[in-house]
Parts: sequence; structure tokens; C-alpha cells
Amino acid sequence: MTDPRYDVVAIGNAIVDVMAPCEDELIEELGLAKGGMTLVDTERAQELYDAMGRATEISGGSAANTLAGMAALGSQCAFVGQVAKDQLGDIFAHDIRAVGIDFDTQPREGDPPTARCLIFVTPDGERTMNTFLGASQFLPPAALDEELIASAGVLYLEGYLWDPEEPRSAMRRAIDVSRDAGRKVAFTASESFVIERHGDDFRALIEEGKIDILFVNEHELATLTGKTDFEAGLDALKDKVPTLVATRSAKGAVAIANGERAEVPAEPIAKVVDTTGAGDLFAAGFLTGHTRGENLETCLRMGAICAGEIISHIGARSEKDLNALVAEKLG
Ligand code: ADP
Repeated sequence: MTDPRYDVVAIGNAIVDVMAPCEDELIEELGLAKGGMTLVDTERAQELYDAMGRATEISGGSAANTLAGMAALGSQCAFVGQVAKDQLGDIFAHDIRAVGIDFDTQPREGDPPTARCLIFVTPDGERTMNTFLGASQFLPPAALDEELIASAGVLYLEGYLWDPEEPRSAMRRAIDVSRDAGRKVAFTASESFVIERHGDDFRALIEEGKIDILFVNEHELATLTGKTDFEAGLDALKDKVPTLVATRSAKGAVAIANGERAEVPAEPIAKVVDTTGAGDLFAAGFLTGHTRGENLETCLRMGAICAGEIISHIGARSEKDLNALVAEKLG
């Protein structure tokens, strides 16, 4: 087996985050569910975009945000995700490359347009998100560069993308390519509702030994295992997944790898401002540690430090030099 060219290649939703400040009156006028995340169709997305003030546009999406964190920590990363041949597709590609991630998935012709998450930020710091998934749900298996998948030490998959059919087939194929090349497959369950829909698939992948590293939060662990008790949930999975990572918001995180268990508290921070992206950045820190061969506790600490940075401000991109922050906190 050759040395991997990339530390991680991720497959995920290719979404542009369009973020603008707004007053509470606008939230009411538009009939938005303040603080929540709502899926919207093309027309509604256009209506909301027209009502938005001056906005900033950056690449987003769960797995892509994890890669942005990893790239900031110095990892070599590549992203696979579907955009359309349109202006937001160009913005996504430019922005993700600008943070040092390789991105070569060809844009898709015609409708639907590139996915976007329209984020209204009210003066109290709350984010009201409206997501149009568009082209990102149409990543076909044919778009996979199998050499690229095989050239990464870890293939990282976003559970959200298991919902639409084409990306699900693409991810199944990628799992086989990665495993045949002797690499590792990491999977984030993303959300309990994804497990409610596709739990049987996920449990089958786990039973077949196709997942090497599994990221879940407390709720996802319960949904996946049917055990409401956290420890019982860990017990149900710990012998089936070589590396199991379970985060528990303010209560920190636990990892169990091949019989060894480690735990860390949440990183102390002055104020929790916006928890969006906590799990994504936790995965970034953990995976960076893992690909560098750090011990389990250090991997968890790196995850907690990155998550702590992201929740101390608005937005799912780090504002501090993550590498310096991790080095300083690890001592
Ligand atoms: P997800 O975003 O996937 O639901 P969690 O909520 O479990 O993930 O959070 C992941 C990590 O982020 C935690 O292990 C912790 O390090 C940090 N974190 C999340 N929420 C908080 C919080 N309210 N206070 C302190 N740390 C938090």
C-alpha cells in the first residue's frame, strides 16, 4: 500500500452559506422560524434571498466545514460534492479552494441550481437558517474519481447525504473503493432524523465492519442503538466499530478504540455564542489527531479545542489560527 496523498477525502453536501444581519421584524414579516433550520424550495429560496440585505457568501456544508478545520490544522484534504454550473457554484469552488482544499467535482448542467443556506442573523446573535439543497442532492456515482478516493488515508462521509439516492450510491461505491485500497472509512451520523430514516443501512454497514471511525452525538447514539442510556449505547457499538467517538455537548466527549477508552470535558470558553458546527469542528480536530497518529485522549482534546473555538462566535468557520490554538492548549 502506498502512502496516502491526502489525509482525508470527504463526500458531503456542497452548500454556499449566504449570511446577512437582519432585524427581528424581517424574521416575522417573512414568517421564519427564528433560531431553527428549515428546508426550502427554489421559489422560497429566491424570495428569501431577495429580502436579504448585503450578505457574505462562503462555502458551507457539514463535511466541507470539517475539512476547512482540518486544512487550517495543516492536513491535506480533498472534497467531493455537487454544485451546479452557476454563480453560487463558482463561489463554492473558489472559496473551498481558497482555504486549501482540493475540489474537482465537475459542476452539473441545468436545474436545480447550487445548494444554499440563507442565514438571517438577528441582533441577539441567533441564526435562522433556510436551506435549499438543490444540485448537491444529485452527486452521481460517475462523478467519483476512484483514484482520488483510494489515495486518501481516510474517507469521511456525511450522513445527511445518505438521504438522496444518487449520492447514497456514490458513497456506497466510495466505501468499497476506499476499503479495497486498505484505507479507513469515517462516518458522521449527522442528525437523529437521518438515522430514523436510514438506521437500517447504517447498522448494516457497522455490522459488516465497513465503518472504521464513527462520530455520533448523544442523541444519535440513542437513535442508532435504541438505548437511551449513554453507557448502554456505547456498549452496544464499542466492539463493532474500531474507533467510536461520542460527543455530549457541554458534557464533553468519549472515545473507545479497540478496547481503550478516553474521555475529555468540553473546553472551557467564556461564552457559548452559536453551537452551529460544534460537531463538524470536533471531527476536524479528532481526525487531524488520528491521521497524525496521536493517542486517543489527544485526539479528543484536539476535537474539543476546535469545537470550543467555533461555538465562541457566530459562523461555522474558525476565526482564530486553529493550529496555534491547538498547539498552545495542548502545551
Ligand atoms: P453536535 O454539534 O454534533 O450535536 P455536540 O453538541 O455533542 O455535537 O458538541 C460537540 C462538542 O462541542 C462537544 O463535545 C464539546 O466539546 C463542544 N460543545 C458543544 N456544545 C457545547 C456547550 N454548550 N458548551 C461547551 N462545549 C460545547
